[in-house]
Amino acid sequence: MSAVPPIPERPRDEGRLATMWQLKAVHAGRAFGVLAAIFLLAFGAAVVLLALDQQRVIDATGRLQEQTVPEIIRFQRLARNLEQLRQEGERIFAVSSHASRQQSMFVVTLIASHPSILEHSGAAQLARETEQFLGDVVRQASSDDRRLATRYDEWQRLAARLGLQVDDISVQGINLATNDLNVATSAMKLARQKLMMALLLVGAFLLVFMVLVRRHLVYPLQRINDALSTLSADRPAPVFPQSTMLEIQAVEDSLREHHALLIQNEETRQALEKLANKDGLTGLTNRRHFMQSAEVELQRAQRYRRPVTVAMADLDFFKRLNDTYGHAAGDAVLCAFADLVRDTLRQSDLVCRYGGEEFAFLFPEIGPAETKILAERLRTRCAEMAVPLPDGRSVQATVSIGLADASECPIEIALKHADEALYEAKNLGRNRVMVAGPAGREREIDPETRNARLF
Ligand code: GH3
Ligand code: MG
Ligand code: MG
Repeated sequence: MSAVPPIPERPRDEGRLATMWQLKAVHAGRAFGVLAAIFLLAFGAAVVLLALDQQRVIDATGRLQEQTVPEIIRFQRLARNLEQLRQEGERIFAVSSHASRQQSMFVVTLIASHPSILEHSGAAQLARETEQFLGDVVRQASSDDRRLATRYDEWQRLAARLGLQVDDISVQGINLATNDLNVATSAMKLARQKLMMALLLVGAFLLVFMVLVRRHLVYPLQRINDALSTLSADRPAPVFPQSTMLEIQAVEDSLREHHALLIQNEETRQALEKLANKDGLTGLTNRRHFMQSAEVELQRAQRYRRPVTVAMADLDFFKRLNDTYGHAAGDAVLCAFADLVRDTLRQSDLVCRYGGEEFAFLFPEIGPAETKILAERLRTRCAEMAVPLPDGRSVQATVSIGLADASECPIEIALKHADEALYEAKNLGRNRVMVAGPAGREREIDPETRNARLF
């Protein structure tokens, strides 16, 4: 039996390389777990940042709703009141009746003491100034209408200041809203950028994950699947490129071990088959295997109408030989006779130990006449053979052989005919070759002249 080929090992040419190799191989579950953890951390951080930006937007819009809008309304009301103050002042200078001026002055006093004006220091100061100025003007005009015209330039400057104050307050209100809106808008822009980053992160992670899964799991599994589908004892062991996943390596290793086992089993099967076909003592084919092979050979010969002959041989007085020299000597003679058979027969001839000290033969491509020459040679050599025994003595044996034509009958019948011829050879005195059939007796060669004809 030939030795089982060793399981091909993973490349370990250099110590450094081996260490790198061991470092490179990792548990698939652990590797993908680490990847997933990194992704979750990055994604979690992106979500937290997004949530912070969202909170800033919520804060800005909340502030806009709760503080800025009421503030803007307050500023508008203040601006409207200052504007009305200016209009009432204009009216005082425009109307001619004292009652109308007094009416306007009353409104001016009301507006100047309005809480919305008092809340704003600049507006309150200006309103007080306006109230005092207009109060003076109305008082002076009550005695002399012409005084109005002299103070109109003064009023124009005050009215211009009132107008500027109205514009300032309006701009302040707008600025308040703009600030909050700017904060909300920048937070929303940031949130949008971070959302895009998070989406890109998810996409990139999925891409990397898919590439890694394909490269380190899917492709190796496909290679394992291919190797499995072609795994056979008559093919070389599967070879895999270095795998980075320990689980894949384990499967590949067990596949290689499985392949080595397949070869071992095949060799064991072949060895057992050989043993099952062999005779344990002589090493010749056993009877069962001979019958199978002879059957096939006979069918082939009969199909092509080729000559074929069978023979039965039996060692003479073997019981006596056993009794005289011992059973071990008998065994030695059987083995020596088997060696003789192997030396004498052609490559194409079939032979088996048929049982005990009997042997069966099949000679393809020759008829009984030519076979008889071959059988005679065997018989003669057997008679001349001296088998040495361990005790220094040597033992001799003769053989009787019966031949039969097998070209027209089944193997069992042909062997039966050969056995009948053998029986005849025994009856005629042993150590002779007989051919079955009517012509057999005529074809028997006289032992006396046997050697002269053969050699
Ligand atoms: P004949 O010339 O008529 O064939 O006589 P024989 O003594 O050879 O025939 P017989 O059938 O009387 O005896 C066969 C003997 O062969 C009996 C048996 O003990 C012996 N024998 C059978 N198988 C073996 C074996 O494997 N080894 C040995 N040593 N003897 C065996
Ligand atoms: Mg016998
Ligand atoms: Mg015998």
